Amino acid sequence: MHSFSASAKKHLKYFCETISERHLGSQGNKQATNYFKKVLQQYGWETEESLLKVMDWKTEGAILQCGKQFFEVFSSPYSLGCNIEGKLIAVDNISKLHDAGLKNKIVLLHGEIAAEQIMPKNFVFYNPEHHQKLLQLLEQSGVKAIISATGKNPSLAGGVYPFPMFEDGDFDIPSVFMEDTEGEKLLTCVGQRLKLESRAIRIPETASNIIGRKPGHGKQRIVVTAHIDAKQGTPGALDNATGVTVLLLLSEMLKDSDLKHPVELVAFNGEDYYAASGQMKYIEQQANHFDDILLNINIDGVGYKEGASSFSAFDLPETIQNAFQTIIKKNTNSIEGPPWYQGDHSIFLQHGRPAIAVTSEWILQNMETQNITHTERDNFSIIDHRKVVEAATAIHEFLLQIF
Ligand SMILES: [Zn+2]
Repeated sequence: MHSFSASAKKHLKYFCETISERHLGSQGNKQATNYFKKVLQQYGWETEESLLKVMDWKTEGAILQCGKQFFEVFSSPYSLGCNIEGKLIAVDNISKLHDAGLKNKIVLLHGEIAAEQIMPKNFVFYNPEHHQKLLQLLEQSGVKAIISATGKNPSLAGGVYPFPMFEDGDFDIPSVFMEDTEGEKLLTCVGQRLKLESRAIRIPETASNIIGRKPGHGKQRIVVTAHIDAKQGTPGALDNATGVTVLLLLSEMLKDSDLKHPVELVAFNGEDYYAASGQMKYIEQQANHFDDILLNINIDGVGYKEGASSFSAFDLPETIQNAFQTIIKKNTNSIEGPPWYQGDHSIFLQHGRPAIAVTSEWILQNMETQNITHTERDNFSIIDHRKVVEAATAIHEFLLQIF
């Protein structure tokens, strides 16, 4: 236990503090996947690296001016930059979008229409029809640029306020966002000419998925996953340096084991990225091999400093269900959690495979109110490395039960 604790601390410090940015296309993201690969190799795992074409994105800020008045705006992540002028029109409801006469104008989206973060155009896992409709209407409108005034929406946008309504490198209308209260002030400029500059650029980059493999006697394998990327601007301690650390601890715990089932440890790159590139790549590569998967265990958000680790089971066959219950009962810091779907286990569920999703009880209890996810507050101080070791130990014991 002691040595695992030291390993956990070392990995977490590396991901959260030595690096500190792990968004796709960043240098830190590449360092993280390299580190992950090296540790796996050190413990005797065979590794595979799959290259992903991704986009990095930078901004030097945005300026919005109406006459002598300036408003505080931020470039929407992955948006194209702009330096334009145009008349301001405000729209608060999707039903008004079609006839708003937006051609060559700048539109302020506020109120109801700006209540949610819009799923990226090409995001396949969850994409409500009204989101796609909204993007289509905007693209057809000939609008020059979009300003969205947003409030708080922790369940979709994490703890970010204001949240970017658009975070989509495939959507090519330049956009910025502002606080809802600032948006109310901007309403006084409707009908006037605005100047908008967003100093944002898209930069073609690469990233990779890393898969570690250890052979076993049987054919059906167990795939343990955690996303290694983080949102831009956050160290992503809970989301998801802890999950990746659990994978590394498992690689160490299992290093000398004789396995009944082959085990795959997958660092997915893209859970917090508009195109989910790593997940899409994995699905493409595994298209004909999902049936060989006995079980997925996905770890995302484990190790919050308070409360237990939560294990949610999805469609487990009876033998696995029994082992699952045994482990939950035996480990006082593990509880059985409710089903939740905003994670990479959904990939396996969509392909008809059973899964277990592991996170912190605290996250599930505070989904609607917490203001940490995707912000700089998600740092080393909110996690407890001992809880990360406990979660890894529980998963290890569980694996030994079904081996
Ligand atoms: Zn996550």
